[in-house]
Amino acid sequence: MRANLLDLDPEALAQQFAAVGEKPFRATQVLRWIHQRGAAQFSEMTDLAKTLRVRLETEAAITAPTIVGDHVASDGTRKWLIQIDGANAVESVFIPETNRGTLCVSSQAGCTLDCAFCATGKQGFNRNLSTAEIIGQLWIAHRALGVEQRAVTNVVLMGMGEPMLNLDAVIPALRLMLDDNAYGLSRRRVTVSTSGVVPGMDRLAAECPVALAVSLHAPNDALRDRLVPINRKYPLRELIAACQRYLLHAPRDFVTFEYVMLAGVNDADAQARELLDIAAQVKCKFNLIPFNPIASAEFARSSAERIRRFAEILQRAGVTVTTRKTRGEHIDAACGQLAGAVADRTRRAAQSKIYPLHEVRP
Ligand code: SAH
Ligand code: SF4
Repeated sequence: MRANLLDLDPEALAQQFAAVGEKPFRATQVLRWIHQRGAAQFSEMTDLAKTLRVRLETEAAITAPTIVGDHVASDGTRKWLIQIDGANAVESVFIPETNRGTLCVSSQAGCTLDCAFCATGKQGFNRNLSTAEIIGQLWIAHRALGVEQRAVTNVVLMGMGEPMLNLDAVIPALRLMLDDNAYGLSRRRVTVSTSGVVPGMDRLAAECPVALAVSLHAPNDALRDRLVPINRKYPLRELIAACQRYLLHAPRDFVTFEYVMLAGVNDADAQARELLDIAAQVKCKFNLIPFNPIASAEFARSSAERIRRFAEILQRAGVTVTTRKTRGEHIDAACGQLAGAVADRTRRAAQSKIYPLHEVRP
């Protein structure tokens, strides 16, 4: 098997080149070709010595996952279905806005954590994505949107999967996102979202402290245990402490608490007031996400008025709140709707509808 260069972060690529006696600046050139110019073939790398190109062609490869679906919504949101192997496909979503373009990237095929309101959780789990499969989503979007455009200004790991349970592959991908010879995104323009896997938060803080989003969704353990089952392992007290530790590594940052608005479940005035206690302990912002319907009809979206009122209670107490505009809904590209096609090894998918590859969803 030839080494897939998409699996290597800048340091690993330099090491590989050093190991075969190539100069470090050659590794930098190759990095730029692959990630800045979107090269897929070594033959395109015209400023490399011919001997090196030939050598790379026999010993290495640039193998990205394959695009098997490409949908654009009327609001410009674009969703790719990306096949990672014979049995699994993941989704990534590009959300263009006036001054930025955000790519939402997946980190696992499915998810083990089974949050009550999430389509990815309902389909079960198959496997972790490799670094090549994670950075490959950005590589694909960068090429599809035109490399000259530099359309992707922000990346969020908010697609399918729990990034903190796949940090061995996620961290090298993050390093490529940040590297000036690759995508050159600033640390604050790359966000990892977690449902609260505390050991992962500590590791990310130590190794690559990008912006952190925490899926809070409930103001107390009783409700959070039900909505976000990982809370039973890492309850709020531990989660809050982990947020505080994270910010020690990035002192000028804040944590974004995501809060999905579920009618009659977590959206009462009293629950907003309960959140103030958490907000007082962590430098944070709140991002309220109107619930996006999934196949199971257990929940409904809070009304716009309820969301407004909930936000107001937090804001009056001095907490910064944004409410997420729902994008790409009718191509099932909104938060929590990503389902791809996962050959479930946990047998949870029996409860939800899995769309075969190539099929356009209703
Ligand atoms: N596993 C990570 C990242 C992926 S989910 C996490 O849970 O944080 C990205 C965000 O979408 C999370 O905040 C998640 O709770 C939210 N989400 C999941 N299902 C949703 C739904 N049906 N409607 C709105 N948001 C949802
Ligand atoms: Fe997994 Fe995140 Fe979905 Fe929970 S919300 S099931 S952690 S992807």
